[in-house]
Amino acid sequence: MNQKVSSRIASLAVSQTLAMAQKSRELQAQGIDVINLSVGEPDFPTPDHIKEAAKKAIDNNFSYYSPVPGYKDLRDAISAKFKRENNLDFTPEQIVVSCGAKHSIANVLACVVDKDDEVIIPAPFWVSYIEMVKLADGKSVIIDAGIDQDFKVTPQQLEAAITPKTRAFLFSSPSNPTGSLYSREELKALADVFAKHENIIIISDEIYEHINYVGKHESIAQFENLKDRVVVVNGVSKGYAMTGWRIGYIGAPLWISKACEKLQGQVTSGVCSIAQKASVAALNESLAPTLEMKKAFLRRRNLVLEKARQIKGMKANEPGGAFYVFPDISSFFGKSDGSMVINNCDDMSLYLLKEAFVATVAGSAFGDNNCIRFSYATSDEILEKAMDRIKAALEKLK
Ligand code: PMP
Ligand code: GLU
Repeated sequence: MNQKVSSRIASLAVSQTLAMAQKSRELQAQGIDVINLSVGEPDFPTPDHIKEAAKKAIDNNFSYYSPVPGYKDLRDAISAKFKRENNLDFTPEQIVVSCGAKHSIANVLACVVDKDDEVIIPAPFWVSYIEMVKLADGKSVIIDAGIDQDFKVTPQQLEAAITPKTRAFLFSSPSNPTGSLYSREELKALADVFAKHENIIIISDEIYEHINYVGKHESIAQFENLKDRVVVVNGVSKGYAMTGWRIGYIGAPLWISKACEKLQGQVTSGVCSIAQKASVAALNESLAPTLEMKKAFLRRRNLVLEKARQIKGMKANEPGGAFYVFPDISSFFGKSDGSMVINNCDDMSLYLLKEAFVATVAGSAFGDNNCIRFSYATSDEILEKAMDRIKAALEKLK
């Protein structure tokens, strides 16, 4: 039997965030006290009123195939959310609900990118972006934005990266892995560059919208000069502690939402009916539980940041959102604890797992080889313990 997988899949990288999470689960199952700061997901339970809505949906027999783009009441709730929270106008027909924002992004790329089309992605980027572009037969064009520019690209860098083959721009703000946020002015400056290039679609991943410690969420879709070419990606995973429910969505120009609906009609059909009904409750009802979670995330960010800054050689920016700290650890490169030399961020991630029993994700997964990512979506006690262990392990490096 020829067991060769397709070259499409053979060339695909494994998701490093999920791989590290799996590795730490395996070590924990062996009885090893590993602290998992790898995967980014809220540690809180889904709020009760959302769970109740799901239970009711089961009792009310929402057990049949749902419409491919999502139930109308959910798309109405999303449309109202866009208006209420972002002042954006997306009709229910411009909205497609998918199996998480991850699926939404993959759908959009599959629908707009042709072979060898270029997709500009600022680095650090979320791990799955470039692999999804690959699956769509496109070419990622990376713009590097290091810690000194708070991991954000400038309009000049953007302009220089645009070519006649550029089809899309894909980014997240608040960002995973850096937690950086583009201000309204910074987004406006990028929008003004795009305004000069009318065939570029902007895919704006706003999944961390509600975990923002700085102020109001700003979307690049707000600018008139980009009308009808921004796809806003969002979902309930992060803001409502619903990662396992798998609900993400887009608000998009009609031609893109229709294309995604067509694709989804052949590949997945409408997503889980019960999770959709739970998401209606999430979006239509109070944001109070979200705000409570945000408070806890802010406290934890401060805790991790304070501890990180006490570690000699670790350089960390203050992330304005999401639940990650992404410190630069390059000053440790070339150092050793006597048995292992740290040559790069992958070595550092491995060293911290072996020596401190803390699972992290190397910056290389996100296109930044100088950094390492800590997810602080876990309890204060665990974070304190993790940071103390990291400090002790790094102090051994000479
Ligand atoms: N975008 C970013 C930046 C993320 O961090 C995540 C988290 N996995 C996603 C999209 C996908 O989220 P989900 O599929 O759970 O909605
Ligand atoms: N967004 C999370 C992370 O980056 C979840 C894992 C994933 O889907 O990649 O850790």
